[in-house]
Amino acid sequence: MITGAGGAICGMFAEKLAAAGGKVAVLDLNGEAAQKVADKITADGGTAKAYVANVLDRANLDQVHEQILADFGPCDVLINGAGGNNPRATTDNEFHYEAETIENCKTFFDLDKDGVEFVFALNWLGTLLPSQVFAADMIGRKGNILNIASMNAYTPLTKIPAYSGAKAAIVNFTQWLATYFAKSDIRVNAIAPGFFVGNQNRALLFKEDGTPTPRTEKILAGTPMGRFGELEELVGAVLFLINNDAAGFITGVCIPIDGGYAAYSGV
Ligand code: NAD
Repeated sequence: MITGAGGAICGMFAEKLAAAGGKVAVLDLNGEAAQKVADKITADGGTAKAYVANVLDRANLDQVHEQILADFGPCDVLINGAGGNNPRATTDNEFHYEAETIENCKTFFDLDKDGVEFVFALNWLGTLLPSQVFAADMIGRKGNILNIASMNAYTPLTKIPAYSGAKAAIVNFTQWLATYFAKSDIRVNAIAPGFFVGNQNRALLFKEDGTPTPRTEKILAGTPMGRFGELEELVGAVLFLINNDAAGFITGVCIPIDGGYAAYSGV
């Protein structure tokens, strides 16, 4: 079961897990995107099926769960991938004093309550609800839950307080749930991706002529390896953490995959 599997990272995880022999349920709010991923897996000889699922709608998740039980049987691995930020929960300025120099600047004082709630719900509740639904299949069957945090879970990135707080909550919840299920044969872990170039953030990272934006310069200066990650570089940690032989005594951890970003003080 992979939520947000119509997206960049989790669509790739779906392909890699199918290539490793998994039967993959591709869940996404965007049915078309989910179908595209499932079709590609099927065309490559793997087993996958797309489901329209909203990680914030418990009734819908229960319904999808019933369909998946009929199609594939009980869930062994749940990857909670749906998540993201929203402009309504993002300030225009990094530091308050900069507001004077930015036209119509959206400051901390202007953040929209509904936008903040949306981002918190999508990332935090959107991890909790699918875990409630699909972990029920895993009790006593050596199941795995894998959550997706972010660099901003450790130190908040500028401009995005709700997204940073929600991802910090994911790390905390990973530890809580790992403890809760520790004697029930369910391991719960997380990965914290560093910086990767995707379609959704390309315009923030590179100008139209391909040169780096000031934000990219800061990111690369803060990354000891001095480069962005390749999405495929996330896969090894995923395959490791959900492997009950290789990682059978590992639960409640969050692995940074970040070229050293979280380890580096900048000095
Ligand atoms: P993406 O936007 O490409 O994919 C997210 C997917 O989630 C989309 O297909 C979207 O339709 C789906 N989605 C949104 N709301 C949903 C809902 N309510 N129910 C079900 N599906 C829903 O994003 P991505 O870059 O692939 O990110 C995947 C995960 O990795 C997210 O949790 C994100 O916060 C996290 N992450 C990404 C990066 C990065 O650099 N891209 C870094 C750190 C963490």
